[in-house]
Amino acid sequence: MNPYGWGFAEITASRLLVCDFHGNVVAGEGVPEATAFFIHARVHKNVPRGKACFHTHMPNATALSMVEGEPLVWAGQSALKFYGRTAVDRDYNGLALDNREGARIASAVGDADIVFMKHHGVMVLAPTIAEAWDDLYYLERAAEVQVLAMSTGRKVLAVDPAIAAETYKQMREGDSESARLHLAAVRRQLDAEEPQYRH
Ligand SMILES: [Zn+2]
Repeated sequence: MNPYGWGFAEITASRLLVCDFHGNVVAGEGVPEATAFFIHARVHKNVPRGKACFHTHMPNATALSMVEGEPLVWAGQSALKFYGRTAVDRDYNGLALDNREGARIASAVGDADIVFMKHHGVMVLAPTIAEAWDDLYYLERAAEVQVLAMSTGRKVLAVDPAIAAETYKQMREGDSESARLHLAAVRRQLDAEEPQYRH
């Protein structure tokens, strides 16, 4: 986890904290931010297939958690990567300052890889860091074009469900390799522009 008090831009590999399920810091220096700890600890404990869980308040996906109806609609090609992979935690209850909030979010996950947390943000669960990153990135891009489409005030048109399902299959084929290459590309850019992230 990120240590409390540090900005995302300041986080480097060695700045990250490793915590146990009781909030004790096992490796790294600093303390975990409380709400982040309660959310992440319960999700990791209760949904062990989520080896990498990323939670953000990225603006476009979060905006979709704040409007009525299903957050993501199957109207744009980018969204179809997530077809059938989303769940919604509808029971927002303020800041997650104890295990119950994290447990409720974890129970909302079910079989999903993407959880829209109403009035709050999103969580992505994946077997690898690369896949979690790739999903997080494209989720925000899909949300961005949906918000843009909605902002026209014209009706947003869904893709035919049979075509959506077929396109989803096409997009998911080789997705883990594509995610690995995506993260590798980002790392090459960081190596060139901000190599301190490695330390
Ligand atoms: Zn949050």
